[in-house]
Amino acid sequence: MGEKPKSGADFLDRARETMAWDARREELSGRFLEIFRRAYRHSKTYRKRFQNLGIGLSDVQSLEDLEKLPLLTMADLVARQRETWPVGGFETLEPAEFRRIYINSGVIFQPGADWEREDTSWAEALCAAGFRRGDRILNTFSYHMWPFAFMLDESAKRIGATVIPSGVGNTMMQVRIMQMLEVNGFMGTPSFLMTLVQRAETMGVNLDRDLYLETALVSAEMLPESLRERLQKKLGMTIRQAYGTVLLGCIGYECREASGLHIPHNLLVEVVDPNTGKQVPHGTTGEIVATNFNPSFPMIRMATGDLSSVTVDPCPCGRTGPRLRKIIGRIDQATKVKGTFIHPWQADEVVSRYPEVYRYQVVVTREDHNDVMTFMVELKEELSRPERLAGRMERDIKDILTVKGLVRIVPRGTLPDHHQKIDDRRKWD
Ligand SMILES: [Zn+2]
Repeated sequence: MGEKPKSGADFLDRARETMAWDARREELSGRFLEIFRRAYRHSKTYRKRFQNLGIGLSDVQSLEDLEKLPLLTMADLVARQRETWPVGGFETLEPAEFRRIYINSGVIFQPGADWEREDTSWAEALCAAGFRRGDRILNTFSYHMWPFAFMLDESAKRIGATVIPSGVGNTMMQVRIMQMLEVNGFMGTPSFLMTLVQRAETMGVNLDRDLYLETALVSAEMLPESLRERLQKKLGMTIRQAYGTVLLGCIGYECREASGLHIPHNLLVEVVDPNTGKQVPHGTTGEIVATNFNPSFPMIRMATGDLSSVTVDPCPCGRTGPRLRKIIGRIDQATKVKGTFIHPWQADEVVSRYPEVYRYQVVVTREDHNDVMTFMVELKEELSRPERLAGRMERDIKDILTVKGLVRIVPRGTLPDHHQKIDDRRKWD
């Protein structure tokens, strides 16, 4: 059991997805200028934001000028929505032209016009995951309030697949439907797929004989590799993930190779230093910022709060655009040490290699104007030569976190019971 290779095209638009990078950049540049000008002319909030910074319509002439524009944070968006009825003035249409108003979590409004039908980013993700015409896909994202299920629904339609709009809940019914309609595709969160599998097992369903699942696109949650492997093995299917937000669309998706997240060709993605808003070099971790080309509610340099880095190494699948490496976490949970983001997730990865460790905490201090990162480690049992373990761990820290760190073995009970994983003790006054 495991992944089943499926024949058929895995591109939505092969010519565009395999376009030479220069040509793609040229195209993105044109689309960026178009959306910038449209926002400037028709959105009162964008115009005001740009004018306040002294940016005139003619100051932006190509992609080279992108960094002149301010980052748009979720906090900005919410604040503007509370001031300017009904959706914050970012829209370029009259409210009467909205076809829907979606309500995202945090009561953030999002107008729907035709972008859900026109945006190709999720359809690109579906093709790359292995979906194709004629597939019967269970869409278990909620169709209430927010747009995500509609976006995937339209995208499945675009590739010629059939959607069963099942939404969340009703797990017993969903398992029955999967059997009766011979459902071979799944869209939803990885945890909901696991819930369905467990439900099927308690119902006495033989996963191999009675279910027909071949392909899943999971999103809206992190997908741990261990969960992917477990599900793929149990179901004999291929599971690919896509990352995105409802305001921006799909930002990255895995292809058959699962070698990072391909950036869809109709989205402009930057990785920036969140303090300066400037792009960081390829391979450096920073905040993901994206600009989409939604003509009615454009998102220009929207900061996602998620951390990743970009690689431009070629992917064996033939797609030529850049890829995001895995999403390593949220910016608000990360700490910067010697100019590099340290995330609790990375510290866990180091420590998970050492079964001897009982628990640990990373302490960041400042000595002689230098950051010092120390892993305080409690062991399950005393070791005769703990310095050997410390030495090996220090090498792994340098490897995984790319920053030098010290390891201090401390007696059991030294760390407080409910401690933060990273304790930043630096004082900046
Ligand atoms: Zn690929």
